[in-house]
Amino acid sequence: MAELEGLEFGKSDFVLLDEVTMEQFMENLKLRFGKGRIYTYIGEVVVSVNPYRQMDIYGKDSIEAYRGRELHENPPHLYAVSDAAYKDMKRRAKDTCIVISGESGAGKTEASKYIMQYIAAITDPSQRTEVESVKNVLLKSNCVLEAFGNAKTNRNDNSSRFGKYMDINFNFNGDPTGGHINNYLLEKVRLLYGGSNVMLESLHLQNNPALYVYTREGAATSYKDRSNHKAVMSALEVIGFSTEEINSVYQVLASILLLGNIEFERNGESVQIIGLEAVTHIAELTATDPESICKSLLYRTVATGGGDVIKKGHTKEDAWFGRDAFAKALYERLFGWIVSRINSIIEVKDYNPLLHGKNTVIGVLDIYGFEIFDNNSFEQFCINYCNEKLQQLFIELILLQEQREYQREGITWQHIDYFNNNIIVDLMEQPHKGIISILDEACLTVGRVTDTVCLESMNTKLSQHPHYTSRKLNPTDKSMDFQKHFRVRHYAGDVTYSVEGFLDKNKDLLFQDFKRLMYNSANPVLKDMWPDGKLSITEVTKRPLTAASLFKNSIVALVDKLGCKEPYYVRCIKPNEMKSSVLFDDARCQHQVAYLGLLENVMVRRAGFAYRQPYARFLQRYKMTCEYTWPNHLMASDRDAVEAIVNQHGFQDDVAYGLTKLFVRAPQCLFTLEQERADLI
Ligand code: ADP
Ligand code: MG
Repeated sequence: MAELEGLEFGKSDFVLLDEVTMEQFMENLKLRFGKGRIYTYIGEVVVSVNPYRQMDIYGKDSIEAYRGRELHENPPHLYAVSDAAYKDMKRRAKDTCIVISGESGAGKTEASKYIMQYIAAITDPSQRTEVESVKNVLLKSNCVLEAFGNAKTNRNDNSSRFGKYMDINFNFNGDPTGGHINNYLLEKVRLLYGGSNVMLESLHLQNNPALYVYTREGAATSYKDRSNHKAVMSALEVIGFSTEEINSVYQVLASILLLGNIEFERNGESVQIIGLEAVTHIAELTATDPESICKSLLYRTVATGGGDVIKKGHTKEDAWFGRDAFAKALYERLFGWIVSRINSIIEVKDYNPLLHGKNTVIGVLDIYGFEIFDNNSFEQFCINYCNEKLQQLFIELILLQEQREYQREGITWQHIDYFNNNIIVDLMEQPHKGIISILDEACLTVGRVTDTVCLESMNTKLSQHPHYTSRKLNPTDKSMDFQKHFRVRHYAGDVTYSVEGFLDKNKDLLFQDFKRLMYNSANPVLKDMWPDGKLSITEVTKRPLTAASLFKNSIVALVDKLGCKEPYYVRCIKPNEMKSSVLFDDARCQHQVAYLGLLENVMVRRAGFAYRQPYARFLQRYKMTCEYTWPNHLMASDRDAVEAIVNQHGFQDDVAYGLTKLFVRAPQCLFTLEQERADLI
């Protein structure tokens, strides 16, 4: 309970609601948003509503106010959670993590920046240079990753189309020593632009996005302005990218744009390229030769049954498909390479635990929350799978955390009833039987397996699953199409997916010829991005993992990583679709509260003891409400004095006494005490 906030700002912790209902939850959230209180707790979880305006709560004064304080001593804030995570790590030499989730535009990336800034501000008062440089690189890498991983979409001017997990390493002093970034990229064709004219010329580009197929659609929006471009360039330099490397980055980006403008036409039996000028430029930019590029665009090398290797000409459609797959892969490899370069620069080097003490970590995860659109495709399926996994972890960890606290405090653990989403996670990821497996199987099948055929297979295999349905299994449901749709009942609600494009996106096929082409580049930076281009076609026997399986593996690894850390959570909500600082769209907000499972969170938290506070602090706050404790008590301990307050109010059945803290089951007790306190002072 925040001491600096009066009751007119609503409840600063949702566990203090009179009743845990959606109505009360929303009422409190809206009231606080209207009063400029964008943060509210659920126990130790921060619920944040995007203010869409500059708030005067992030400056040096605020940092000082939160530094070293306990969570409930100040109004709810990201800084309080950052401090808790930092203190927890330092005091107990334990790894912690902060998981930030919410939908696009809800304020996740901003939150992660404030968290990083706070941690940077409170560490290393002596400003030693190596610590400074680690912090600097960590902060700058944000800017670079945003430039390359983000896009201006109509939902968010700066939408991260990927999840990002960043570990910050600390030495025993609590000073940062390095870091590591993991990225979870989903959509690939997003481009950064806005270079100077001189630079554009050397890249064979013109300063007009409408001239390039890949940027034309979003021409007005996907271009970043010049100052932003400069910031990225300088960030790359600060991080430690060499001039050659930076040039290579822009050469690849330019090649992608030029590639998009290459067309194909049929000429009798064969297919030919329209736009040979672009090919010449790409060859120059990628340090390859034009003939090889043409060959890769028009043919693929295949191994015949007899072990021969032949060149098979593309159809026009194959050529188009290959070109786009190549462009996407170039972008994906580039992004992956940038991340790994940053990692190699910021990784902790020469860390000797004997010399430097135990190395600990704070992880910050910035990841998209549940996505439910009118049309949900493969990307939403992956995102929602990730959210089921995180929810599973969340429930496990919150319950475990509660349990551990009760044990520490010597209080009997009571079982808490909650919805276990294991069954949904299984539906998605179980080997052989889950949706991902069925998709993979369809992708491996030789011949033309269509999306619809794959849907049939899911319908057959999953017909009995309580969280799966489709039009075939539920013929009366006219909101679904027989050929297209399946529906998953997620923990947060129903999502209808359209299978169109699922298989292509899952296969994520790139002809080996393109990989070889890039591997043979005379530019070592490019070569470095394509190590698998070394293999000849006869060596590429093993099927590459599908996109869904790769994604699944990375999420499983992520969950493992988070699972052994002490977690803190930030749940972000977008108040409206207009980026307005005053509009609170009730329906949209309620939707998000539901999908983030926030009511459930309050219930879990309240199922045991809703509220707990160290004896001394409880006493300090409420001693005026009891004749035996005001102005000072004469009892043997603070605990006894607290007991006197509890007894005087008749709350003895609603509390438990821990070793160091009072546990209060019913939040109403607190309202009574708060009210009395307010009347007295
Ligand atoms: P997400 O990462 O969840 O998609 P962002 O963090 O990029 O969303 O936030 C979207 C936009 O909302 C930001 O560009 C910024 O304008 C605004 N915003 C988000 N959080 C805050 C905040 N705490 N204070 C002011 N503006 C914010
Ligand atoms: Mg973001």
